[in-house]
Amino acid sequence: MVIAQPLKNWAGNVEFSTLTLHRPVSVEAVQELVADSELIRVLGTGHSFSTVADTTGDLLTVADLPRRIEIDADRRSVTVSAGTRFGELAQALDPEGWALHNLGSLPHISIGGAVATGTHGSGITNGCLASAVNAIELVTPSGELTVLRRGDEGFDGSVVTLGSIGVVTALGLDIQPRFEVEQRVYERLFLSALRVNLREILTSAYSVSVFLTWQRPFAEQVWIKHRVDAGEWPHGRDWLGATLAPSQRNPVPGQDPGFTTQQGGVAGPWHERLPHFRLEFTPSAGDELQTEYLLPIENAVAALDVLSGLADTIAPVLHVSELRTIAADELWLSEAYRQDSVALHFTWHPDPVAVDPVVRALEEGLAPLGARPHWGKVFAMEPADVAARYPRFADARTLIAGYDPDGKFRNAFTGKYL
Ligand SMILES: Cc1cc2nc3c(=O)[nH]c(=O)nc-3n(C[C@H](O)[C@H](O)[C@H](O)COP(=O)(O)OP(=O)(O)OC[C@H]3O[C@@H](n4cnc5c(N)ncnc54)[C@H](O)[C@@H]3O)c2cc1C
Repeated sequence: MVIAQPLKNWAGNVEFSTLTLHRPVSVEAVQELVADSELIRVLGTGHSFSTVADTTGDLLTVADLPRRIEIDADRRSVTVSAGTRFGELAQALDPEGWALHNLGSLPHISIGGAVATGTHGSGITNGCLASAVNAIELVTPSGELTVLRRGDEGFDGSVVTLGSIGVVTALGLDIQPRFEVEQRVYERLFLSALRVNLREILTSAYSVSVFLTWQRPFAEQVWIKHRVDAGEWPHGRDWLGATLAPSQRNPVPGQDPGFTTQQGGVAGPWHERLPHFRLEFTPSAGDELQTEYLLPIENAVAALDVLSGLADTIAPVLHVSELRTIAADELWLSEAYRQDSVALHFTWHPDPVAVDPVVRALEEGLAPLGARPHWGKVFAMEPADVAARYPRFADARTLIAGYDPDGKFRNAFTGKYL
């Protein structure tokens, strides 16, 4: 089926260059569509802020393919259709006693889209969401259906590819026994204390997020997500001068705390605590742009100093910033490739013209620290500078060209950056 309508991404800042969205209902139909198309691309749930998913050719979604969630307890793996949203997968895994290692800040995104862009949650022992991928079912540019498995030659280059090697119809993901998480929010962590204890703070629980607006001498909120099976809560009521929030909080100033996952130390299932936002509500500010850079955690204090120095530039166009950590992985185009990383995130006002010079100022300041931009968010870095951040970039290019020599899956974004 083909739907004709003006197509925009979730944030509304990208209007797609095509009016048609194909909605195949079988893998065979995907194969036919791909084989017959000259130029094609997949749309996930459209949560990227960059033009990574755009195309002037055919756009398709895999959301209507038959839903698959097949748990293999012996292999600790689940095979899931790529159009499934993380929240839906979690609701199927948890009652069966299983969990994913981590989730992003929102459970609304498709698994295929999140994997393609190296999307991550937080936690210094937690790799990005794509690091759980152990198999990929793929319709290649010729229309052939193939399965790639972890350990196959080139697999590490085939997971985070920005949709460049074909249509991912299903993914195998590592799972582990379900676990419970307690979440608490601390308030008013002074920047001086944050700076001195930065690494300790960011690595002080299973998942940690520091939220700041750069308008005050303190970080407004620190979200701590603690695995119950790791023992006692790791901090006191007062922690490094910060105090426990007396009630539920939303990290975005002025937004409804009811949209966020349960805090206050009430233990609950992993998937109802690891995201910040509840599946049934609009996440984040809703009216926004986002930018994020990942850089080696060794450079976290230097990066904080750069951001502090730019506070007056950042603050006027900012809803909120978030600092997180991500464990190193082996995926060639993952923003955390071979480096334990700190992520510097910015939720901006929805004003691209005002945001652009701020993004450029950030990139100038962070360039010496090895910042890699999030593929799915707004950035301005030159392609050569992006490529220079990735030791396996040339190999990734060769691998993609091998799959797609005629550029059937190419778009302006991947043409520019890959
Ligand atoms: C409110 C909000 C909060 C966010 N929070 C986080 C966060 O906590 N951490 C983080 O890292 N990012 C975050 N992001 C960014 C988001 O996770 C990424 O942009 C992610 O790619 C979105 O997934 P999607 O399904 O919407 O993908 P889309 O934006 O639709 O597509 C992204 C890319 O994936 C490709 N793709 C999608 N499906 C397939 C498929 N089946 N086969 C092949 N290619 C495919 C597309 O072609 C495109 O290149 C957030 C975004 C929003 C809007």
